[in-house]
Amino acid sequence: MTRKKQHTHQYVRTYPHAFGASPIDKTKGVWACALPDCTHFMPHNVADMVEGKLSLCNRCFEKFVLTRELMGIDKPICNSCAHPEDQLPFDAAEFMEVKMNIARKRGVPLEQIEDAEVHAAIETRHRMGL
Ligand SMILES: [Zn+2]
Ligand SMILES: [Zn+2]
Repeated sequence: MTRKKQHTHQYVRTYPHAFGASPIDKTKGVWACALPDCTHFMPHNVADMVEGKLSLCNRCFEKFVLTRELMGIDKPICNSCAHPEDQLPFDAAEFMEVKMNIARKRGVPLEQIEDAEVHAAIETRHRMGL
């Protein structure tokens, strides 16, 4: 009996010749773990079950959840690697503006506003396209 070490698989899509697979027909790809000491793979007939599972990013090796969109490439990368433009550069002026807004709305001094809260508010603003 081999003891399986629990880890988050690093999913990549492979095209085993044995299955008559080729990168031209993505539907024949098999999702397998890229880690050297792991032989895990998702059999073709349940390949869709990879969706929604945790995987390690093939670029930054952070954990992320596989989505259909991210599974569009053979070596899926996480959302922040796939969409670096979403990772907005820190805007000090905006940060101050939002922080002051929150403080004013609440009628409390600036020091009482947590940075994390400001970041969250900025994120919401951007998501709403403001
Ligand atoms: Zn694995
Ligand atoms: Zn990544």
